[in-house]
Amino acid sequence: MYDTDVLIIGGGISGLSTAWWLNRAGLSVNVWESGKCPGGKIKSRRQDGYLTEQAAALVMNFRPEVAQLVQESGLEAAKTARSAEAEAHRYLLHDGQLTAMPMRLGRMVSSPLWSWRAKLRLLTEPFILPGGSEDETVSDFICRRLGREVLEKAMEPFVAGTLAADPDLANAAATLPRLTALERRYGSLTAGVLVSRVLRRKRACITDTFSFHGGMSTLVDTLSRTPGVCLATSHTVNEIAPQQHGWRVTATTHDGQRSLRARKLVLTVPAGCAARLVNPLDAELAEQLMGIRYAPKTVVHLGMDRTVVGHPLDGTGFLVPRRENQPMTGNLWMSTLFSGRAPKGKVLLTAYLGGARAPATVDWDDGRIIDAALAMLRPVLRLKGSEPEMVRIDRHREAMPLYHGAYQARMQAIDARLARLPGVHLVASYRGGVSVRDRITSGYTAAQRIAAELGSALPMTAVYSSHIGLKLEEGVTI
Ligand SMILES: Cc1cc2nc3c(=O)[nH]c(=O)nc-3n(C[C@H](O)[C@H](O)[C@H](O)COP(=O)(O)OP(=O)(O)OC[C@H]3O[C@@H](n4cnc5c(N)ncnc54)[C@H](O)[C@@H]3O)c2cc1C
Repeated sequence: MYDTDVLIIGGGISGLSTAWWLNRAGLSVNVWESGKCPGGKIKSRRQDGYLTEQAAALVMNFRPEVAQLVQESGLEAAKTARSAEAEAHRYLLHDGQLTAMPMRLGRMVSSPLWSWRAKLRLLTEPFILPGGSEDETVSDFICRRLGREVLEKAMEPFVAGTLAADPDLANAAATLPRLTALERRYGSLTAGVLVSRVLRRKRACITDTFSFHGGMSTLVDTLSRTPGVCLATSHTVNEIAPQQHGWRVTATTHDGQRSLRARKLVLTVPAGCAARLVNPLDAELAEQLMGIRYAPKTVVHLGMDRTVVGHPLDGTGFLVPRRENQPMTGNLWMSTLFSGRAPKGKVLLTAYLGGARAPATVDWDDGRIIDAALAMLRPVLRLKGSEPEMVRIDRHREAMPLYHGAYQARMQAIDARLARLPGVHLVASYRGGVSVRDRITSGYTAAQRIAAELGSALPMTAVYSSHIGLKLEEGVTI
């Protein structure tokens, strides 16, 4: 006898979205979360009229599963789109100055960012034969296809800024799956981009960048209230034990120990925590999970009067290449991106420090962190005089898992060991991508597999299933 079909351990976006999909398949689902409230890393906070994000600030979506979840969970009306002004530019710091990043291949060639040598190198890309190994790093892949200057000026800051990773160590196929797939499928990135653009136009596939009026917490709060999903907070799971055809899970709660029997388990907790839970069952699986490293990140939110900022803030923000020797990896102009992030006449700038590039920053005291952020922003954004009127700092010691080293081999080893623990599933940001989009999509894939194992199915509405069919057939989009 079982208490539930599926018990999900961890109530971040991975756990909550997996629960949402499983519920749609008609299965009984429990989510046990150790924190006082659900959402994991995602948390929006209001402070002095500003709306800040502790982790994910936005969803950049091109996946039909995400569109379906947002629409069918009733979140469509709560969405807020990226402003037209933010769409105008994405900047890169280049020799201490902000330079607009060319977003199209044609503009890349005319951009002042690149030397003539780099531009000529770019033009040779379609003629370079496909190559590379399973363990090729991002740096090797980009140098091989686009040249070192593109790596140093564009790809390194992208990988450091959005994934907290080091391109010299990051696995290319895992870190840039769509880009590497273009090479595999079309032989060159240029050809792949052109074909994808035509396909995308034909199939009306668009990228939707959005958040919610109340911030990203709206997403996790809504999912946590899904009727039929039984969420328990302040439940720290400390033991999972096999039973005939299922699992017995024990957690520490405010009222002491609590146990529950489930037919299937989904572990959405960080790798180290998953390792501790599976260690008594399979030490080798635990060892593989233990080997997954995380990068720390520090987020600094600065609220200030619009008049203090000399720059027009006409874009999403900027990324900072390693060659600029700064602990900051990027800066999002949140009040340009979305309405309602700052009081009238004020702006909200969110700076990201650390990652694999400068992990020690997470241990800096508040004063040092603020000084470092302002020292970088003052000349670049032409800040005048006074100090920010609102400051908030969010530290993440395990911000993002690093897809470094022999990542594919590690994932294969994990899958092989998991096969010995039937009914245990790992749905977490160390596999399948760290973004909210990837987390929701991974939740869908896992729910589909679990539903099939339990003789159920995940119903899709016609419009979404045809959309997904196209995407799978198409394989890559950019
Ligand atoms: C600074 C920063 C900025 C980011 N920006 C973006 C962005 O703009 N866009 C984007 O798409 N993504 C962004 N991300 C990535 C994204 O926010 C995360 O990858 C995602 O939220 C991770 O969700 P998760 O559910 O996998 O993990 P978590 O959110 O870590 O959830 C895991 C949950 O498990 C719980 N748990 C742990 N141990 C136990 C236990 N023993 N028992 C029960 N529960 C347990 C934890 O309390 C936690 O709630 C950002 C991340 C960071 C850190």
